[in-house]
Amino acid sequence: MNFQKIFGKPPETEASAPGRVNLLGEHTDYNDGFVLPTAIPQRTTVQLGSSTDGHHHFYSEDLDERVSVLESNHTPSGFASYIFGCIQLLQKQGYTIPSLNLHVKSTVPIGSGLSSSAALEVATLRAVRQLLNLPINDVEIAQLAQQAEIQYAGVQCGIMDQMASSLADTEHMLFLDTRSLERRVIPFPSGAEIVVIDSGVPRTLAGSGYNQRRGECEEAARLLGVKALRDITDSSATEVLPEPLRRRARHVITENNRVLEVLQIVETFHETSLQRFGELMNASHASLRDDYEVSVPALDTLVGMLQKTAGVFGARLTGAGFGGACVALVAAGEGRGIASNVLEQYNQTGNTGRILVPATDF
Ligand code: ADP
Ligand code: MG
Repeated sequence: MNFQKIFGKPPETEASAPGRVNLLGEHTDYNDGFVLPTAIPQRTTVQLGSSTDGHHHFYSEDLDERVSVLESNHTPSGFASYIFGCIQLLQKQGYTIPSLNLHVKSTVPIGSGLSSSAALEVATLRAVRQLLNLPINDVEIAQLAQQAEIQYAGVQCGIMDQMASSLADTEHMLFLDTRSLERRVIPFPSGAEIVVIDSGVPRTLAGSGYNQRRGECEEAARLLGVKALRDITDSSATEVLPEPLRRRARHVITENNRVLEVLQIVETFHETSLQRFGELMNASHASLRDDYEVSVPALDTLVGMLQKTAGVFGARLTGAGFGGACVALVAAGEGRGIASNVLEQYNQTGNTGRILVPATDF
């Protein structure tokens, strides 16, 4: 149901923000390293108006759920916690926020690793900024969005998702140094586009596996005498470590180097640069599979099929792993054809995959 039907009057303003996919730099953000996400075409739109009864009212058309916040010191649960967190943090910055009617509608798949949560936070903050003419910039929006997710939704996330949603678009990738927040918004290579396919394997072990890998990286950094693995650039330094720490650290170090290599070649993008970009994505997948051990057979199958397909520069699992999605860099104009061919092949192996990008539903 639209804003008018839910709240009985039209919205006063609206803003939107995209989901994202990470092209390179996986499991590097909690090692103070480098990431390279880009925005996807799917977006979350937030419409706003003021509420006259002194309470905030949030409605998600996608969930068909309405939540009213009756007490401002009580964080609601579920999707409302992300929105409430954004509003609370703005108030803590000293801004006076009136009671709001807020309507959410999104084309970003929810819970598929394309960061619908960051898109919701960034769209909310953009809409409030616009309604009240607040002097906050896009980096501050990303930082507030990350804090809303950590402090109010209870998700210990890095800043990649929110920075990508706030600073990138489908024509640009975001190179981000997660330690210094130094960044470059880089034009997406004109000869290429992105394919994202969900493997259909749920990310069941993702939580425990993620925490275990984080612990292993901290231990490896401690044994090597550095603050974080980002401080090492030569992977032979890992030879003194016991297994499996040696392979874990080697993934992080080589992955950071792969992101830095792409950053160097993007300046002069041409056909061979795209091939090299693809090779680095393939190498990233092998490293995630063999050294970091976060792939599963279905992801390896899907990535293998993508890598063998004509028109594909490179492919890898994207996100934390243990299930979830794969991303491929493919020749411009060929994404839709490649995605449906590979999906058909993949689904014959007894899996139920799904094309996420190029978007089919709009
Ligand atoms: P993702 O990879 O999509 O970010 P998360 O688990 O981090 O997955 O975030 C998904 C959560 O974000 C949902 O469970 C919901 O609470 C919230 N959310 C995202 N998009 C919407 C939406 N359009 N409407 C309501 N809630 C949303
Ligand atoms: Mg999320």
